Amino acid sequence: MAEIPYETNTPSSWAEEVNSWPWAAVRDDRDHPLSWSKGGSCPRCHHKMSLDIGIVFGIIRLPPLIAYCNCGIVHETGETGCGQSAEIERPRG
Ligand SMILES: [Zn+2]
Ligand SMILES: [Zn+2]
Repeated sequence: MAEIPYETNTPSSWAEEVNSWPWAAVRDDRDHPLSWSKGGSCPRCHHKMSLDIGIVFGIIRLPPLIAYCNCGIVHETGETGCGQSAEIERPRG
């Protein structure tokens, strides 16, 4: 398998694909919502990456949500992940 170098310059198609993955609510054993998560294969390096964000209540304006490749694989330059990151949409509801 060809080595994919670490690259922080992220095309908009990367964010679009990560945006297209569905969010799933994570609940505790009393069915209270804890967080939102989603995951898939990184559109660039195709390793598994995932996102997990806490559910916040009572905050009107949330900061931008930045997704980044956290595949855990060491790419060139010794970094884990392939360097891609982008602002994505928060789950609704
Ligand atoms: Zn990777
Ligand atoms: Zn990646």
